[in-house]
Amino acid sequence: MDTSEFDFENRIISSGFTEEDRENEISLRPRTLDEYVGQSKAKDNLRILINAAKLRGEGIEHVLLYGPPGLGKTTLATIIASEMGVNMRITSGPAIDKSGDLVALLSNLGEGDVLFIDEIHRMSRNIEEILYPAMEDFEVDIMIGKGPSAKSIRLPLAHFTLIGATTRAGQLSRPLRDRFGVQMRLDMYTPEELSTIVKRSASILDVPIASEAASEIASRSRGTPRIANRLLKRVRDYAQVEGNGKVDLKITKEALKRLDIDNLGLDSTDKKMMETIIKYYGGGPVGLEALAATIGEESITLEDVCEPYLLQIGFLARTARGRIVTPEGYAHLGYPYPQKFASSQGSQMSMEEEPEA
Ligand code: ADP
Repeated sequence: MDTSEFDFENRIISSGFTEEDRENEISLRPRTLDEYVGQSKAKDNLRILINAAKLRGEGIEHVLLYGPPGLGKTTLATIIASEMGVNMRITSGPAIDKSGDLVALLSNLGEGDVLFIDEIHRMSRNIEEILYPAMEDFEVDIMIGKGPSAKSIRLPLAHFTLIGATTRAGQLSRPLRDRFGVQMRLDMYTPEELSTIVKRSASILDVPIASEAASEIASRSRGTPRIANRLLKRVRDYAQVEGNGKVDLKITKEALKRLDIDNLGLDSTDKKMMETIIKYYGGGPVGLEALAATIGEESITLEDVCEPYLLQIGFLARTARGRIVTPEGYAHLGYPYPQKFASSQGSQMSMEEEPEA
């Protein structure tokens, strides 16, 4: 099977972080809770948490943020630190490869400071164990010397706040997860919220945009602000080259067609993923690993990038035995739904999705 068209790294609708995003992130990232669009439940809880901590003159509890990439976890962590008026140090699970690195990070934190660890589920277990006493008692154990004369001493730390971000809360070990006093799931954004984000970004980037064009971009952004911002920039480029620089509905539709993004925000890769299940696995169920191997992609990419949105819009379902394409998924791709499922659909769909967290 030809896998050359699976260029996940350069997918326009990939919600992962790209080089181009770096520029976006600096200028477009909201800086206060009021600027942060949507996620009202998380915002309300955070407001209370922050105000109560300020009243008591303490730092806030450790916070775990989880949800698919590009939904605003890093942004929210930055906002928490700035609303608390403290410094934030940023690292990520895979970046900490020696226990000494984490001890150095922790011991350099000031009172109330935030340590943000992205992809915290990818931290190795022995490094993770350093976090337990650090989070609970604000202490770390360090070994001094080598061999028989080595001894362990406890080093006190400042009262810091750990903010962990993860795309998979379910992969966090129980002891680590239990040490977060606050756990918040970020949900995908509604088209209306994304439209507000697109308009806000357009105004920062000084791009004239029609309201219907903002809605069009929003409805094709897979519920994800990072994708909305990226699409806006692509459409802006197209408008500058092929039009008069103004982003209207016609230019937007043309640009998105050129990018091969359909009316629901699916691109060729999403379609290929569903088509592979339909054609090679009779509609499923198929395990993620087998599917990834057939497509020639890492299962983690399918799980983190394609799947959350396909599940959200109900084109894929996760059953105890693997992924299946739903009748809606078949219909969207224009394939007839197999008779064998039509009769047993009830029992297929009743094998409920495994809980995410
Ligand atoms: P994550 O850490 O979850 O991968 P980020 O916090 O890096 O996501 O968000 C990606 C980009 O999306 C940010 O730079 C920001 O421009 C935009 N963004 C995210 N959440 C919001 C929001 N609630 N309102 C406006 N823009 C947002």
